[in-house]
Amino acid sequence: MSSSLADHCLAGALTGEFVVDAHCHFGPWNAFHVRRGGWARAMVDAMDLCGISLSVIAPHAAIGPDERLGNDQAYAAAAEFPNRLLPYVTINPHRPCAAIEAEIARWDRVGIRGFKIHPALHEYPACGEGYRPMFEFADERGLPILSHSWAGDALAGPPILADLATRYPGAQFLIGHAASSWAMIDASCDEAARHPNIFLDVTTSALLYDALEQVVARAGADRILFGSDNPFLDPRPPLGRVLMARISDDDKRLILGLNARRIFKL
Ligand SMILES: [Zn+2]
Repeated sequence: MSSSLADHCLAGALTGEFVVDAHCHFGPWNAFHVRRGGWARAMVDAMDLCGISLSVIAPHAAIGPDERLGNDQAYAAAAEFPNRLLPYVTINPHRPCAAIEAEIARWDRVGIRGFKIHPALHEYPACGEGYRPMFEFADERGLPILSHSWAGDALAGPPILADLATRYPGAQFLIGHAASSWAMIDASCDEAARHPNIFLDVTTSALLYDALEQVVARAGADRILFGSDNPFLDPRPPLGRVLMARISDDDKRLILGLNARRIFKL
């Protein structure tokens, strides 16, 4: 008698491991379908499918036109799923300084675990004056900042983030998409070697063969964070890339969750 695939579980959710997806978004977006109603539930369903314990979220609204709405969405979702979703506070650097300080103070009363900046979508340099109140706050409190970044990115490329890491040594700088191209791997690994407060977020943007192994060899597994860009992208391919990499299980556990536990003080 032949058996069907349904009779065998060839792959299932990772169990018994602490997995943090440090680079997620949330909610509606103009460019693709996101399941309507229950956006938080949809995120958690996708996490359950592959065994992700916790996702750190910066809603699309926040990295787009309305950071206050987006921050509201992030904190509301985290309140609905307190052990599964963790909010980033996203800063819009175009606001007046007083408004940015007020937005930080608004969430400081609840608790801030990290900041997200998207210089490309906000069309503003990471080293610009608008971000200064956030950098000073993160520096003083020892908080992480995840920045979107590309190789040669004139607004937030690795050298710009590295300058900020020198100026604000108390903050941790997470370079987004650090394994998205060979040029990006070179630039971000070089900066990680020079700056102890730089970490590499290997969120999928291209699935380059051998990329993760090379980043581990050059930067060290203790400087790398797993991320997926869920719900921009399906979290399963990037998770598989870590699980199937030719690195040790100890290194996989650092990348998948233990580094995030340290950085986000989980
Ligand atoms: Zn992203």
